[in-house]
Amino acid sequence: VQKFGGTAVANAERLRNVAEIIAETYRQGNQVVAVLSAQGDTTDDLIEKAQEINPKASRREMDMLLSTGEQISCSLCAMAVEALGLPVVSLTGWQAGVQTNSSYSSARIKKIDVERIQSEIDRNHSIVIVTGFQGINKYGDITTLGRGGSDTSAVALAAALKADLCQIYTDVDGIYTADPRHVKGARKLEEITFDEMLELASLGAQVLHNRSVELAKKYQVNLEVLSSFERKPGTKVKEVAKNMEKTQISGVATDKNVARLALVGVEDRPGIAYKVFSLLGQKNINVDIIVQSIGRQGTQDISFTVRRSD
Ligand code: ADP
Ligand code: ASP
Ligand code: MG
Repeated sequence: VQKFGGTAVANAERLRNVAEIIAETYRQGNQVVAVLSAQGDTTDDLIEKAQEINPKASRREMDMLLSTGEQISCSLCAMAVEALGLPVVSLTGWQAGVQTNSSYSSARIKKIDVERIQSEIDRNHSIVIVTGFQGINKYGDITTLGRGGSDTSAVALAAALKADLCQIYTDVDGIYTADPRHVKGARKLEEITFDEMLELASLGAQVLHNRSVELAKKYQVNLEVLSSFERKPGTKVKEVAKNMEKTQISGVATDKNVARLALVGVEDRPGIAYKVFSLLGQKNINVDIIVQSIGRQGTQDISFTVRRSD
């Protein structure tokens, strides 16, 4: 399974380059499923278009809109592979059997029915190109997995297909000790453990969607992050890395998309925190860091962080 991010598929020339990478892998005798993001800033542009019409658009309609970006890049990429004379078919999330729950705009994959993909591979010896970021819920509606979700689509497909390897092609040549676009002197890592990467991704290193790392760990997917522009080895993400005992800190991440809330002077009684966090849970709002102060005169403060958009 090879995933290509937005920059990698941004224009015709880059799509041809991606088609070459896919074709090369296929010609080496591999069965290839490619998972694509939308081109360049397409997803941001679509969000902007929606804002112009209705800033309070429902999440269902947002998903209907945003999923189109991936459909465009996939069909174009399939055309580029066709031009190389290889058998290829592009599929949307529902055609590929990606079933999700109904949390529009942050849907979770429940199951992937790989029958269609498998038959394209086995019967037609086809290269299969699948839209990242999207699936379908039990009502037959299109859902999306949340920003950056194509990584998760790719790893989930790799797990479902029991793929030998899942390659995440992006605009940097691997995982660094810090974001190489912002930190001079950040070093490229040859490998990193699932746990370390999960921590980095959850703290804002967008190079991998954190749920993709969670899935890769759960299903022991052989994962690699590498450049779509330069042909050279990237970073392996795996269960145990070589320098297990040596490195104490493998990377640093920042996240500006965080909001901190404080409930000041809430009643200091067992069950209050449960009430607060279960309400947030019901609304699918993820809470990250929680700090509770010590009680004073029967009250206490509860501070926590959530995504700014939530
Ligand atoms: P894609 O469109 O391929 O999914 P993303 O923009 O989502 O690409 O992720 C790649 C970006 O992640 C890089 O351009 C880089 O700026 C950023 N990044 C943040 N932290 C790291 C890190 N530790 N190592 C590598 N890249 C990082
Ligand atoms: N196109 C989606 C986004 O921009 C998904 C992805 O690229 O991973 O968030
Ligand atoms: Mg990404």
